[in-house]
Order: sequence, then structure tokens, then C-alpha cells
Amino acid sequence: MSQQGYVAAPPYSQAQPGIGGYQGGFGAPPAQPLYGHYGGPPQGFNAPPAGVMKSPPTSPAGMPPSPVSSQYNPSVQQNGAHPQRYASPSAASPPYGQPSHSVYNNMASPAPPTQQLANQMSAMNLGSYAPGTMQSQPLPPTSSVAQQHFQTPAPAMGQPQIHPAPQAPHMASQNQMSPPQSPLTNMLASGQPMGGQSMAGPPMGGQSMTGPPMGGQSMAGPPMGGQSMAGPPMGGQSMTGPPMAGMNMPFPGPPPSGQGAFQQHGTGPTAPSGYPQQSGQFGGLMSGPQPGMSGGFPGTSGGLAGPPQKKLDPDSIPSTTQVIEDDKARLGGHVFSTNMRGQVPPLVTTDFTVQDQGNASPRFIRCTTYSLPCTAELAKQCQVPLASIIKPFAKLPKNETPLYVVNHGETGPIRCNRCKAYMCPYMQFIDGGRRYQCSFCNCVSEVPVFYFQHLDHMGRRVDFYERPELSQGSYEFVATLDYCKNNKPPNPPAYIFMIDVSYTNIKSGLVKLVCDELKSLLEKLPREDGAEASAIKVGFVTYNKVLHFYNVKSALAQPQMMVVSDIVEMFVPLLDGFLVNYQDSRAVIYNLLDQIPDMFADTNESETVFAPVIQAGVEAFKAAECSGKLFIFHSSMPTAEAPGKLKNRDDKKLVNTDKEKTLFQPQKGVYEQLSKDCVAQGCCVDLFLFPSQYLDLASMADVPSHTGGSVYKYNNFQVATDGEHFLRDLRKDLQKSLGFDAVMRVRTSTGFRATDFFGAIYMNNTTDVEMAAVDCDKAVTVEFKHDDTLSEESGAFMQCALLYTTISGQRRLRIHNLSLNCTSQLSELYKCCETDSLINFFAKSAYRAILNQPVKNVRDILVNQTAHMLACYRKNCASPSAASQLILPDSMRVFPVYMNSLMKTAPLVGSTELSTDDRAHQRLSVMAMGVEDSQLQLYPRLIPLHNVDVGSEAVPDPVRCSEERLSDSGLFLLENGHSIFLWLGQASPPDLIQSLFNAPSLAHLQQEHMFTLPELDNPLSKKVRAIISELLEKRPNSMKLQIVRQRDKPEMLFRQFLVEDKGLHGGASYMDFLCYVHREIRQLLT
Ligand SMILES: [Zn+2]
Repeated sequence: MSQQGYVAAPPYSQAQPGIGGYQGGFGAPPAQPLYGHYGGPPQGFNAPPAGVMKSPPTSPAGMPPSPVSSQYNPSVQQNGAHPQRYASPSAASPPYGQPSHSVYNNMASPAPPTQQLANQMSAMNLGSYAPGTMQSQPLPPTSSVAQQHFQTPAPAMGQPQIHPAPQAPHMASQNQMSPPQSPLTNMLASGQPMGGQSMAGPPMGGQSMTGPPMGGQSMAGPPMGGQSMAGPPMGGQSMTGPPMAGMNMPFPGPPPSGQGAFQQHGTGPTAPSGYPQQSGQFGGLMSGPQPGMSGGFPGTSGGLAGPPQKKLDPDSIPSTTQVIEDDKARLGGHVFSTNMRGQVPPLVTTDFTVQDQGNASPRFIRCTTYSLPCTAELAKQCQVPLASIIKPFAKLPKNETPLYVVNHGETGPIRCNRCKAYMCPYMQFIDGGRRYQCSFCNCVSEVPVFYFQHLDHMGRRVDFYERPELSQGSYEFVATLDYCKNNKPPNPPAYIFMIDVSYTNIKSGLVKLVCDELKSLLEKLPREDGAEASAIKVGFVTYNKVLHFYNVKSALAQPQMMVVSDIVEMFVPLLDGFLVNYQDSRAVIYNLLDQIPDMFADTNESETVFAPVIQAGVEAFKAAECSGKLFIFHSSMPTAEAPGKLKNRDDKKLVNTDKEKTLFQPQKGVYEQLSKDCVAQGCCVDLFLFPSQYLDLASMADVPSHTGGSVYKYNNFQVATDGEHFLRDLRKDLQKSLGFDAVMRVRTSTGFRATDFFGAIYMNNTTDVEMAAVDCDKAVTVEFKHDDTLSEESGAFMQCALLYTTISGQRRLRIHNLSLNCTSQLSELYKCCETDSLINFFAKSAYRAILNQPVKNVRDILVNQTAHMLACYRKNCASPSAASQLILPDSMRVFPVYMNSLMKTAPLVGSTELSTDDRAHQRLSVMAMGVEDSQLQLYPRLIPLHNVDVGSEAVPDPVRCSEERLSDSGLFLLENGHSIFLWLGQASPPDLIQSLFNAPSLAHLQQEHMFTLPELDNPLSKKVRAIISELLEKRPNSMKLQIVRQRDKPEMLFRQFLVEDKGLHGGASYMDFLCYVHREIRQLLT
């Protein structure tokens, strides 16, 4: 046994007194029989027995003819004249197709149009890359649902036309929101620390308001965010204590007769509950934003009988910033122990510490719901997508334990005989510890002799706490040679820097900037903890129409250049000396980096190649038998005669037509084959683009987006204004922790399975997710579907196994396990939903769908699915109440604002004013995002700075992303992870301007002030710069600071991020969207 210990430091500790095992954790408590089916015949889950073995690599590359080397003479060109063609692209359709899935078509509403839409939704979720599949899906021809697009603005208002609702006839003729907002809304907005998640409430998780019955409250307003304020059957939050406590709203007036709104526990579901029927739910037309509205509740005085002519207070609709603050107040700074099955974690925006006690940290896996519906029928009914967002290499904060590494010796990790799941906390040891039953497929396997251990009186192995694979949700296994290509241990990975030295990049100063930076940056290559130096090798290529390779062997006095002009049959002209250890060759590399800018200083070459550059990287890795990453710095569309040559196909006339999708589709052929080659070799591509015009990003980014790579884009790059921004990105990117040559498999317990995958990934078959590399910011979103019934008692399990090569060249398996609850109650499912995860899924499925169908269809599908999800909640979980009331599940109360924001993003908005490349870029970057990044992208932080406490360490609390939160005399910071703005109100106090810019007033700010804050020695300047640095530090991407003055032209750039307002390029305001969705819901319910 002793040799079976862990390889890892820190030494794995003994049982920690504080860790009490799995209190009610996985499945039933150990004392009870575990898993109802224990000992029963294995169920019919015939998972393919294949492991996470990578398919054998392609045949070894033959060495190219040996070229003649030349001492620094860029004009020397030699190469074997190879007449052969570039590997011709396969004509077959791409292998992204997914198996067909059951269609969600059982929405409660019987309306046929609904059903058609539902079918279409399901199709969208499949989002197969396979061209044509979507096209064959007809639009719902005359569906009333589909035709009432809220994008169609009503005259003047630009708002959806809200039809009079029978339930609220008083609304019909009014053009203003009737009774403004309810105290209830206020209560929700001001948010008690409730959050329906961790409640030990009644079985239903109902919103059980103990305390005085509240029927008398004047629920005058739109009970939004309403989390079902009714009795237990509802699935909202549980408010213990007097419901009024801490809520700053009046509940004036006597109860309307017959209305029994908030019920106490046990008053029984038969009592009429819900909101008093009254006017003023979200059913009427609302006025536009009201500047200056500062969060008051004009309607409160109106109480029950609020005059219908009042305008709706924007504060009354559910607030994302409030939800975020509430969660922070409730869970911020707490320890989240992962010992409970199906536990809903704190929001991504909350700082908390994770203690792994048997389930993977939410940093690694988040789910759209933590309580899966037991049956496919329930899933169809609610249309809540079942998905996990997996970020296998997520960064852990310093106070959390890194993953332990387990070594099971020569035979490799212990795995289930049948489904090949890895040993994990969900395996059940039986027969005195001699056998174990797999919780994924129920198969019983023998425990290998070396692994045998006795069981304690609870039936648990006595070495439980000593083995991470029995007690932790996440850990790693040392992989044996069986898990390596050709049964050989891998070589350490390599980074190749490939610099476009055409005219544009030389003239802009970019080449010199990159070369200078690399000299210091190469010292910071990722290395194993405790290692003296990085094991990653480095190589250098420059190119325009031809490629220049450099020999930087340490023994050389001078680097040597070799030119390859045969870009059709790309080969690497040297093996020895191309990929080197930086430490050994530092002097030669310095020499090279010093010389490159001068060597090409007089170039006139403006044409470039691109695909051959990637091909060269693949060939170099093949020859060196390693995986790695290419860093490509490129400026223009590759128009030189070569494989992968591109032509301008940008056509704004296609926007908002059926052919718009072609703008997002990469050009087929060469790039498709190249992605395949890259993935087979473990060659990840990071692309840094410096365009001054359209360069067909959709095609150029095709390889990065299938190899776990990133694409960065700097329009009209100028060293002075963009240099630092770019360098920050490069530094972050180069230092990211990551794994190479990875293949991921997600296994599930019987009853459901992973059916679809979204990310910067490559799929050769339907189960193996291949990633040439995967870094700490990349996430894969996995959708699940039922194939049988799930058991409430057993729950549901998933195991994500990622086989990869470490930065030092070790083969490892990283395992993340998660157990979820299963429920036959929709209310429980809704209660356990997570909006941030849901929107991540919707963003990715919509962004994939636009490859195959018109963006307008996709938007319609999104709206309709939103309405279906909420209507189902209303119908099945909320207590009876007036149809005029919009009632949202607590867990999804801000879902509409995210959904509306998603539909206004550049890829989905369909505006000719947006750059095609920018749209494609945003589409691809979101596809690889984790929950944290997609949340921020769709709801930017708007941080007031004019009243910042300069003595405090904290970043001020953000306010809602709406113009009306701005003030003429205010200063605001806005950031979404990709852009950061400092907005200066036109009446900004001169002393603030002086402190920040050393200028007497706004009018004195010059252009050079608009991208940077000077380093001034005063508290405000220091504080503001500290906040900006902190935000830049936190985000995966660097952001370019843009300073905008109110009413200056660049302010438009800033305003497009105010996501609660009407979209600059189209799209409704949050409030209008809510009205529209509410109307859709009412239609579904009637
Ligand atoms: Zn199994």
C-alpha cells in the first residue's frame, strides 16, 4: 500500500475533524441502503466501453528535405520545390453532427404554434454544426406567437404593442403603466437575504411566509420577481420571521375581501392565495425611462388602489444588482462545503471559499438546475435546459487546496469494468470491501488486491479520508503509458511565436513591440509549482508571403534563418535548434528578437499567408512529437496565393436576411482540415489580430475556436493607445495555467446522458470532447437529455474525466464529480435553477444556432422559450392569481434582463452598423466562456465613482445598467470583461476632474487624455486607478480604458452597454421586454 500514495504535495491530510463526511450527502445517508437498486441487475445503460484514450495519432511526419541554412539573409530562399498540393479538404460534411434528440414539444399550452416553436427551440438547442439541418426546419408559418416580435417597435414608443388583456381591462386603453409597483416588488428589490436555495423549508420549498397574514397588504403593483408569494406549493423562498421585518415597504390598507395573499404555514393550499386581483400588473404599456427617478416608490401611497395613470417605477422591476448584493450579503465570505447532493452554490459574483467534500467545486462545474426533473416529460413541460458548464482548469484562490494527485500504480487508475468511470466518492463498496458497485452503470467490479481496504460499521472504507478519490469531488490521477500516444510518455509542450512581418505590422511598430516584450515575458512561461524553470520549449517564425524559421540552438553565436517559400507543401526546415529551452538559448533568442524588427524594417511586402503558418506549427510539433500552442500575431486578410487564401465576402446586405448566417460561417475546406490536424497533434492556436479592415474573422478564427485557443482583436492598432492593452493580454495569455492535448468525457448515471457540447472544442464522435489545449478560462457547456426515468432517492451523478498533458509533459487525468438531486416536483426544479448558468447555456446555443438559421428566428425562439419556462412555473408552481400578474420564480427573477441583453448582443441584433468581424469575434469568444464571464458580458458593472470612499479598500457597489442611473455631475466606471469605460458627466465637479486628469475642466481634456489616467498623487486618482487595476487583474482579458464625456460622440460606444435601456442597434428595453414576455406568458396560459 505504501507505494500507492499520492504524488502530490501538500500531503493529503488525515480525516479532518471539521469535515464531517457526507451529512446527507451522496444519495441516501450511509446507514440506509445506498441506492435502491443496489444488488439489482445492472440497468440497461450500455455506455461504450471506450475510455478517454485518444485515438492514435496520425502517422509520423516524414522529415522534409534538409534545407540549406543561411546566415540572416531574408532574401535567401530555398526550399524543395514541392509540386504537391496542400492536403485537399475532405468533401464530407463536418463531423459535428449530433444524434437526434427527443423534442421538447409537450408544453402545457396546447396551442399548435407553440408546439411548432417548441420543436424549433429544441432544434436550436441541438445546434448542430451540420449545415442544412436547421434550414429544413420551417418557421412556424402563421404562429401568432412567432409573429409578434417584440423587435417590432410600436410607433413612437419603440415598445411592444401590448394588447389589452381581458383580465385587466382597465389597462386596455391606457398608455401608461397602471399601478406602479407593489410593495411586494419593493420587498423583492430590496431583497431580504433569502434566496430560495438553502432553505430547509417545507418540502415544496414554498414561500412560506410565517408571520402575520398579509392578505391585507396592498399588493398594488406588478408582483414581479414575485417568487410566487403564496403558500407552500410554490417553490419560492422561505421567509422565516415576520415578513415585514427589514422590508422597507408599507403595506397599507385593509385586505381586500376574499384575498388571502400571503399565507402562513399550514393555512392550506385551498385558501385563495396570491395577489389581490387588481390593476397594474405588468400588462399595460409602460412609459419610457424616467430620468431622475431615484428609486422611490411613487406607488406605495397608492396602495391597493393605485391610480392607473401612474408610471411604472423602474425600481420596481427585478434588479440584477440587488440580486447580486443580496447573495453577497447572505453568502459572501462563507465556506461552501460540497458535501450535499444537489446543493445550489452562491452566485458567481459572490466571493466565497469552497471546501471540497465530495462534489466538484462550483468553480469547476455549475449547472442550470441542481434538481433534475425525474422524467423526460417533466423536462419537456418546463423547457428548462439541463446543462452543466464545466471549466476543468478553473483557477482556485490561494486559500483553497489544489487538486491532489493520486497514483494507482502500474495498472493505472481503478475504473468500473463496464462504463469505465473512474474511482470516485460515489462508488459503493460491498462484500466486506472486496467489490464495489458503480453508481454510474450499477456494474459490480472486484476491488484489485492492492486496493483492498476494510469497511467500517457504516460500510465505508477505513481509508476514506486518506484517499482523495473516495472523499473529494475533484482530483487527478497519474496516467499510465496506456493513456499516451503510441504508449510513449509525451514530450514537454512547446510554444511557437509566429509574427507577421508584413508592411502593416512593421510600420505600426507592432513587430518591435512583440519582440521587446518577449524578451522579458519568456522568463515567465508557466512552470510546475516548485520547478526552477519552465519545461516548455520555444520556437520562432516570422512570415509574410513566405515563412522564416529560426535556428536558435544554444551553441550558435548567431541565430540562423531558413526561408520556406513553398507554402503549399509546408514543412519545417530544421528540427534541431528550432524548439529550444529558453533558459539554454537565452542569448541567441535575445539576439534574434533584437534583430527581427531591423531585418524587415524596409519591407514593402503587404501580402500574407495564414493557413500555411498554422500548418507549419503543426508540422513542427509533429516532428518534435509534442503538443503546444502557436501565438500568431497577424494584421490582414491572407490574400497571397496559398492554401487558405481568403477574399472579402463581407456583405452588409445579407444582414437580416436568410443568408446572414453565412457571415458567421467559416469558409470550408482548408481551415476545417487544419483544425482536425491541429487537434490530432495537440496544437492550440492563439490568434492576435491587428486589422484595419475586414479580414474574415469567421474563417481566420476557425482553427483557434476548435483548438481551445483564444482570439484577440485590436482594431486600427496603434502602439501609443493600444500597445499596453495588447501587452496585458499577451502576458495574461502566455502565463495561463493550462493542459495540452486534452480529451474530455462526461459520464452520467443511468437515466440521462450528455447529448451536446459547446466550447472551443472539436468533436470527432458524439462523446469525446477534444481540445488541443484547455486553459483556466475556457469552459465547455454540456447539455443533458433523459433516456430513462431518474430516481429521487438515488439522485443523478456526473463525472467529467479530462485526459491531458501537463506543462511539464506528464500525462494526467483530471476528474470532477458532481451529484445532483432529482425531483418530480417542478417547484423544486425551479427553486434549484441558476440564472447565470441558464444564460450561459442560452447564449451558446443561440450563438451556435445562428450558423444555421436567421438571427431573427433565433431571437424568437429565445423569447418563446423564456415565456414557456416562466409560464410553466406560473401554471404549475405559483398559486392561483390574476393572469395580469407576472410571477417569476425566485431563482429566475432576473432571467429576463439577461435574456433581453443577450438578444441585444452584436451577433444576435442584426444591424448593418455593426462590423461583421466584431460580431463573429463576440460570437466565438462567448462560445468558450464560463459562467462568470458570460454573466459579466451580459450584465456589465456600472460603478459610481463620484462619491467613492477613497479610504475604503472596496470597489463601490454597482448600480443598474441604465441611463437613468447616470447623473450629469457623476463619474461612472463601466466594464463587462472586454471593454472598460470611464464616463464623465458634463457637469462633473472641476475638483474631481482636476484630481483625475490634472486639468481644470472637462473642456480641457485632449484626445490623449481619453485612453489613460495620469498617475497623480492624490487620494481620488489613486483610488480610481486602483479600482481599474483590480478589475483588469481579475478578468481573463485585458480591457482598453476608454474615457468618454457625456454627449461626446464616443459616448455611443459606452451607451450600448447600458443593457436595461433600449438597444442602440435594436432591441427592447428591459421593461418593455418584460411586458412582452408577460403577454406571451398570458397567451400560453389561456
Ligand atoms: Zn460503471
